[in-house]
Amino acid sequence: MTMLKLKEQDLPSVRGRYTENAPLGAQGWFKCGGTADVLFKPADRDDLIEFLNGLRPDVPVQVFGALSNCIIRDGGVRGVTIRLGRDFSEIKTEEDLVHTGALALDANVAQVAAEAGIGGLEFFSGIPGTIGGALRMNAGCYGTETKDVLVECEALDRAGNVHVLTPDQMGMTYRHTDVPEDYIFLSATFRGTREEPDTVLTRMTEIKQKREESQPIREKTGGSTFANPSAEELSQSGLSPDIKVWQLIDQVGGRGLQIGGAMMSEKHCNFMINMGDATAADLEALGEEIRKRVLEKFDLALRWEIKRIGETS
Ligand SMILES: Cc1cc2nc3c(=O)[nH]c(=O)nc-3n(C[C@H](O)[C@H](O)[C@H](O)COP(=O)(O)OP(=O)(O)OC[C@H]3O[C@@H](n4cnc5c(N)ncnc54)[C@H](O)[C@@H]3O)c2cc1C
Repeated sequence: MTMLKLKEQDLPSVRGRYTENAPLGAQGWFKCGGTADVLFKPADRDDLIEFLNGLRPDVPVQVFGALSNCIIRDGGVRGVTIRLGRDFSEIKTEEDLVHTGALALDANVAQVAAEAGIGGLEFFSGIPGTIGGALRMNAGCYGTETKDVLVECEALDRAGNVHVLTPDQMGMTYRHTDVPEDYIFLSATFRGTREEPDTVLTRMTEIKQKREESQPIREKTGGSTFANPSAEELSQSGLSPDIKVWQLIDQVGGRGLQIGGAMMSEKHCNFMINMGDATAADLEALGEEIRKRVLEKFDLALRWEIKRIGETS
């Protein structure tokens, strides 16, 4: 069902800013895709709560962080799209704890923790998103996931009620969180271990080097396109349980495959790239072509890790 375009006059009055037809896709890592009917930047936490209290319940709400894991479809996003502001990016440390707003960049959280002598959070330096995105995706790399270091987080439901959630309550599994799709993460507390800052900073440098070598991080990309299938899924298809999704993509001729302006990276074939003039439709069609080939050859349905949001044009 196509929803009617929302206008600012349909919305509660706020202290923050509304922007109609905001170029959302262009702000993402892929640098393509449609607009948001209405973008809302709350002035602060209370403004966001009052906005949710006053918003008609039938209006869809969507929140983004750094847009490093999303394809915004060419037809754009209906309802209200929320981008949190500076009020949500504070990072504070206390003993072995790090308290952070949901808009703080993962890399900044890793850096602040390391400088304060808190180890265990350096994997965040390898993920180019925000803490809100990390909580939603249970982001992780090099053997650590967000759930491993999360103590608790705060989230707002669609009506503006605050919930404090622990990782157990959030059902965090590989690149997935069970928290309702319309919850908005506000902040999080992580626990690391006390260590010498230099030791932690050295590990961070190693992570950065590994990423430079193995991922197309200077391209217009969105990280891993598909999640690695579970050992159970692989064995049902008669495949070895330690096979990674990039190997399957490679075996169906995916490396370097192009549709329109979209290409599967030569450097890491589970990364999709906008070569310059890709549309969101090109990116999605390329992903679906890979899924079709893997299904035909291995009888295995790949799961998109990248979120595809909005309407096709
Ligand atoms: C070069 C590159 C390398 C990457 N490497 C990795 C990696 O090693 N490991 C990994 O796990 N990921 C990786 N990613 C993917 C991506 O960075 C992560 O998924 C990241 O956690 C997404 O955060 P974001 O702020 O960009 O979220 P967005 O892309 O903005 O949003 C992703 C999802 O999170 C939701 N979301 C965002 N903020 C909030 C909030 N405040 N409240 C509720 N929901 C929210 C959105 O609604 C959406 O569903 C990589 C991406 C790129 C481009």
